[in-house]
Amino acid sequence: MRTVLYAFLLLASGTASAGDCLIELKADDAMKFDRSEVAVAASCKSIEIKLTHTGKLPVAAMGHNVVIAATADLQPIAQDGQKAGAAANYVAAGDKRVIAHTPLVGGGASTSATFAGSALKPGGDYTFFCSFPGHWAIMKGKLSVK
Ligand code: ZN
Repeated sequence: MRTVLYAFLLLASGTASAGDCLIELKADDAMKFDRSEVAVAASCKSIEIKLTHTGKLPVAAMGHNVVIAATADLQPIAQDGQKAGAAANYVAAGDKRVIAHTPLVGGGASTSATFAGSALKPGGDYTFFCSFPGHWAIMKGKLSVK
């Protein structure tokens, strides 16, 4: 298992050339993302989010997603998302404050989402976070646009 993971990491680093328009995150059963900060280029036409859940726990117990929003909107988005429930990936339908989000995944699964680079302004204050109830308070990081 460890060898497979290592091979995967090598493979992932080999595709880093698209890094400026790619937000690649891993999350685990310890309710953590592997990075506390990510950056994208202001020139990106489209930006891809890739999330890999490297843990083992099922989605109902330790589900993770990636939501991108202005930092000031994090808490209200997460609170409305909790009301929307798991079937909605803990993101309220049509929430205009949400810039992008992936579906929720459980251990061993991965997911992705793509959004227009024009949704982000250079120098803006953005956060990526997991909107699973109880996770968003700590499971988050800074997204900068350069
Ligand atoms: Zn989570």
